[in-house]
Amino acid sequence: MAPNLPFKPNNPDLFRDKALVGGEWIESKSGKRFDVYDPGNGKVWATAPDCTPDDTDAAVEAAHEAFQTYKRVNPKTRAQCLLKWDALIRENRDDLAQIVTYETGKPIAESQGELDYALGFTWWFAGEAERVQGTIQTPSAPNRRVFTVKQPIGVAVALVPWNFPIAMILRKAGAALAAGCTMIVKPSPETPFSVLALAYLAEQAGFAKGVFSVLPTSLDGTPALSESLCRHPLVKKVTFTGSTRVGKLVAKICSDGLKKCTLELGGNCPFLVFDDADLEQAATHLLALKWRHAGQACITANRVYVQKGVYDKFAGILAEKTKALVVGHGAEKNTTMGPVTTPRSLDKAEAQVADAQKNGGKVVMGGKKLHGTKGYDGYFFEPTLITGAKGNMLIAQEETFAPVMALFEFDTEDEAVEKANDTSMGLASYYFTKNIDRTWRLLENLEAGMIGMNTGNASAAESPFGGIKESGYGKESGKDVAIQEYMITKTGTLTLS
Ligand code: NAD
Repeated sequence: MAPNLPFKPNNPDLFRDKALVGGEWIESKSGKRFDVYDPGNGKVWATAPDCTPDDTDAAVEAAHEAFQTYKRVNPKTRAQCLLKWDALIRENRDDLAQIVTYETGKPIAESQGELDYALGFTWWFAGEAERVQGTIQTPSAPNRRVFTVKQPIGVAVALVPWNFPIAMILRKAGAALAAGCTMIVKPSPETPFSVLALAYLAEQAGFAKGVFSVLPTSLDGTPALSESLCRHPLVKKVTFTGSTRVGKLVAKICSDGLKKCTLELGGNCPFLVFDDADLEQAATHLLALKWRHAGQACITANRVYVQKGVYDKFAGILAEKTKALVVGHGAEKNTTMGPVTTPRSLDKAEAQVADAQKNGGKVVMGGKKLHGTKGYDGYFFEPTLITGAKGNMLIAQEETFAPVMALFEFDTEDEAVEKANDTSMGLASYYFTKNIDRTWRLLENLEAGMIGMNTGNASAAESPFGGIKESGYGKESGKDVAIQEYMITKTGTLTLS
């Protein structure tokens, strides 16, 4: 157990600060370690092994060796391991939530909420493991039989972001391990410990050595380790969640080896409020979505479009409800909004607010960094509401990833759709209206992979998750589509004599 943790875990074995390669807990080959910071106070709270490309071969070869056996394991046994993993994660929910809070900054209740959401995936994919099916085609000749079989693709590499370090892993690993693949995770430098804790519980759940491995690395070490993992010839699948910028780099690397790749990328999601909507309900959903993890979810509402007649009233409801937020360290009992996870997000938020002001936007509340002011050593930013936002502002063109909400005005439905679609991204879109015809039209006309209708909660284990346009390709979660991302289809043709 690592010394001097800032919290007292009920299960001290859960905190792991070594890499997991082929079932062995080891230091990196370089022997170097990197610092992990608590965003709530900006201080180092633990260190992790700084893995480099020198660690890649051992991890991939062990995962490949494990795959030779694991691919033949009966799907029922894989499902049983997933369910055992699920049960162990549930048992350790409070400790895991503490780790997530110290890594990401989010309030404990939100970390627990992330775990509950994430556990949907282990449960779901345990069910999916046994339901993979091939097909039998109607043959084109009497003595011909044509059919397809599904097989796991091989070693999968997961490159994951820091914002939902448990959910991102279970959504990917649930599908991969159910399919019969083995997986190596490269966590974000900000959040290695939640992934390592999950790996420890995977071992306890009965997954064989090498089925699930973790190679942490520092911010500086990230590009080289990621590239060496993606390029390794024994790696057959890469699943990436993160920014569009890095997603494009990963796609290029994968294209060299023609590797199957899933990309879950940036959002910049629109949220439309029509004048016939239940404004209280729309505001409640919007605030739950937007203030979650201080605005750092890919599917968060980045651009809020409000119809002319209700604009001022809606802005007033949002401001009133936002006043109730308590900003503080995620581990403190009363906190309802934590810091952002990295200091990089503070600078981006500050630049977006300044740009909005310069271009005529009005900061109705917040607007400033709290970081460095009295009582706020961590990476805090004031919950911020901007009205009068326009399409030429940075806040319209880039994801914010901070607690800054921008309100845009629209007049007609056509105008709302045009503005909502005026982005290279297409992850999620949301709208609130009571008009059933409009509900259907918007579903067809908005360019996004996921559509929330009178809800700000459009993601669950049973829903296919994924974007279009520059928000990426491939689906995670949902029936059939997600597990297929980790499988190949073989077509068999038989001639009967
Ligand atoms: P990021 O792209 O910086 O990092 C994502 C992963 O890639 C991390 O593991 C990181 O260490 C690694 N990485 C960073 N630079 C790399 C490089 N040059 N080469 C290879 N790997 C590299 O993203 P982030 O800041 O961790 O996360 C925020 C972004 O992720 C936002 O854009 C958000 O919208 C997106 N996101 C998308 C989803 C989704 O499902 N669509 C979910 C969560 C986050």
